[in-house]
Amino acid sequence: TTSIFAAVEMAPRDPILGLNEAFNADTRATKVNLGVGVYYDDNGKIPLLAAVKAAEKARLEAMPPRGYQPIEGPAIYGQAVQNLLFGAGSELTESGRVVTAQALGGTGALRIGADFLHRMNPNATVYISDPSWENHRALFEAAGFKVENYPYYDPTTRGVNFAAMKAFLLGLEAGSIIVLHACCHNPTGADLSDAQWGEVVEACRERGLVPFLDMAYQGFAEGIDQDAVAVNLFSASGLQFFVSSSFSKSFSLYGERVGALSIVTASKEEAGRVMSQLKRVIRTNYSNPQIHGGAIVAAVLSSPELRQQWEDELAGMRDRIRAMRSGLVEQLKAKGVEQDFSFVIKQRGMFSYTGLSAAQVEQLKNDFGIYAVSTGRICLAALNSKNIGYVAEAIAAVVKG
Ligand code: PLP
Repeated sequence: TTSIFAAVEMAPRDPILGLNEAFNADTRATKVNLGVGVYYDDNGKIPLLAAVKAAEKARLEAMPPRGYQPIEGPAIYGQAVQNLLFGAGSELTESGRVVTAQALGGTGALRIGADFLHRMNPNATVYISDPSWENHRALFEAAGFKVENYPYYDPTTRGVNFAAMKAFLLGLEAGSIIVLHACCHNPTGADLSDAQWGEVVEACRERGLVPFLDMAYQGFAEGIDQDAVAVNLFSASGLQFFVSSSFSKSFSLYGERVGALSIVTASKEEAGRVMSQLKRVIRTNYSNPQIHGGAIVAAVLSSPELRQQWEDELAGMRDRIRAMRSGLVEQLKAKGVEQDFSFVIKQRGMFSYTGLSAAQVEQLKNDFGIYAVSTGRICLAALNSKNIGYVAEAIAAVVKG
């Protein structure tokens, strides 16, 4: 008899996880993995934030029972998320028009949002930036949507081709779902200006689009409030929209899977109906969210002292990444590279689209044990005071040919 799995084909490897496997197998002591999407400290370690440690210690001492959580997560968590995204005491949060559900990281938030949207309108097309986080397309396709790109990155200016993006949005059918990186665009590091965000909001209004903001890096560009500009502009517009948010990076809680989906509706009454449907999506998927990570985040955000400590630690991560950006640019210059790399300083968040070709990336790997994504994306948060000189030397060698 043949196996019931006889016809199962091998799925393509995840390109980034494949990179990690190759990196782990590399025996060179000087190897550096710039392909990751994780913040490392100056010792090359994933930090455990002091604010997180304090909240965890208190929780451990309290030894609370582990009953089921509400389907949408506890109210204190939802409140904390809304305060971060929309501002404490804002008209939106006070009016009861926003529903928030705890989710399994930013990915889980995107997925419950996608499933909810698919129940609402299965025939809508989802538009993602060209390029985008590689999981956006797969995730919305897995939810049953057709996924297309909208113009975004312009390699010649290393910025956003905003004219093309806007013209494209203005040509879309009503009800189209448009996924927007709220800040720290992954993979390019190129964000919209505040004025351009204003124009995107107006395009969404004019065309009746469904905006879905993905906020995976709040606090990594300028600060908690400054990085919420896009969310604030959509909030002020009176439009309905979705926000997926993640604490993976901002709390360095990757494996705890803490995120949230917030949906801004037109009224409190509408919010009640939307939440009832969102709960069905969650209930039939994983029933209700896990406790630990969300409890830690809620404890930190609702204690003035821990919140301050967290903001300071987040600022520390942001500043270190910035120092690595300017350090890399300086060192490339010092090593005689004529090509202008100053754009690396202007890019925001953890990543830089370096403009290195796939062949140059391959050479970095073969000759230096430096691993990057073949698109030329590098993670600045993987650089530190010990490896930055070596990385600069290697990049200098491959760009000089
Ligand atoms: N969205 C973007 C743009 C991301 O870069 C990431 C993580 O890399 C996520 C969502 C998912 O975050 P999480 O790890 O919280 O699921």
